[in-house]
Amino acid sequence: MREKYLLRCPGCGRSFPDHYTLDCPSGCDALLRTVYAGRRLTPRNLPGIFRYKDWLPVEGHLRLDAGPISYESVGLARELGLPHLTVTFSGYWPERGGRMETCSFKELEAQPTVLRLREKGGGVLQVSSAGNTGRAFCQASGLTGAPVVVVVPAAAADRLWTTIPTANVCLITVDGDYSDSIAFGGEVCTLPGIVPEGGAKNVARRDGMGTVMLDGTLAAGRLPDYYFQAVGSGTGGIAAWEAAERMVAGGRFGSRLPELYLSQNLPFVPMVRAWEAGRDAIVAEDMPDTEASIARVYADVLTNRHPPWGIRGGVRDALAASGGRMYAVANEDARSAGRLFSDTEEIDLDPAAAVAVASLVRAVEEGFIDPGKRVLLNVTGGGYERAAEDLDRYPVEPFIRVAAGEAFEGEVRDAVRDWVAEQEVAARA
Ligand SMILES: *Cc1c(COP(=O)(O)O)cnc(C)c1O
Ligand SMILES: [Zn+2]
Repeated sequence: MREKYLLRCPGCGRSFPDHYTLDCPSGCDALLRTVYAGRRLTPRNLPGIFRYKDWLPVEGHLRLDAGPISYESVGLARELGLPHLTVTFSGYWPERGGRMETCSFKELEAQPTVLRLREKGGGVLQVSSAGNTGRAFCQASGLTGAPVVVVVPAAAADRLWTTIPTANVCLITVDGDYSDSIAFGGEVCTLPGIVPEGGAKNVARRDGMGTVMLDGTLAAGRLPDYYFQAVGSGTGGIAAWEAAERMVAGGRFGSRLPELYLSQNLPFVPMVRAWEAGRDAIVAEDMPDTEASIARVYADVLTNRHPPWGIRGGVRDALAASGGRMYAVANEDARSAGRLFSDTEEIDLDPAAAVAVASLVRAVEEGFIDPGKRVLLNVTGGGYERAAEDLDRYPVEPFIRVAAGEAFEGEVRDAVRDWVAEQEVAARA
């Protein structure tokens, strides 16, 4: 093939060129995958994640120095008796070169997504997220000028901040919960020129997150035997599996897929329950007392109600292919693991990353980890305390406020349409 990459549907096997395609044109219920012409990864002399540009669905790159950083742990490794522990950190930690200023690995998704859309389709991205994803896309917008429409619950709007000013973010707050925001975001995408970011279906998001596996493997010189991550949607777990498969096919870093150890935070652990029950769908009994459980978890970025679990190429397939395990982690275990990490490694963690550390502590205690083998710990977020000391913080100001269940019509629709038109004028200027 002459293209750098094609998209391939694991449902029907068809391959086709990328037009910012999120779904199989034949309608298969499957996650599309990228197939890159280059089977071997050659790290480029580019900043941040664009070092791994060969295996990102983009043609050019962004001049952003915000990628994952990997190092061999000393302190935590000694504490756990693991001589081969690689930490891959996404967040703000300038001493080690960590420059994701919104402090989570969602920046790995936002950067290639913004560029892929610019190159392969064009338009305004729509994102519904009250947490790390929303912040990462606002930051990517501020850094690149890419226009985004972000829809969030009003109560969570204060989590949207950036470390540089943003002029191309249209923030819509919804007086309702996260599900109301997702529903309203869907309505907003009916406006011509607005494109959904696509979540796990977006290959740029997955391949961006897959750079954690690439970076950790290159730092260690070989693929890990075990990969640890806390999951909400599980997109990062799928991405790790896909990236590891590419590394195995390339042949230089080992021939065995790492076992995926994926964790969720009690009491909201739908994927752990579905896994233990051997189910290919998440059902109501996997999410008892949904609202109350979600309200009680420490790491609320892990509370996705509709993860891509049973879909072809989804989280369940990733776990099955790699011989993985799932852990349900209690709040107090996550908190103490977070303290252990900050005491031994000297950086503060996102609560979700603390859940992953807790699962590693458990797996070691339970004897699942052979200390002669290599572990990759995906520290998906951290450095908030450092970032608060060092960096400016710009709150993203709401553009419009709507009620839960409000229809996207009349003045609100006109206002967003006019905003999109202004972006198009500005882009041509
Ligand atoms: C989103 C997020 C996760 C979970 O990621 P998924 O792979 O999408 O489930 C874990 N940690 C942090 C810090 C996150 O922001
Ligand atoms: Zn298909």
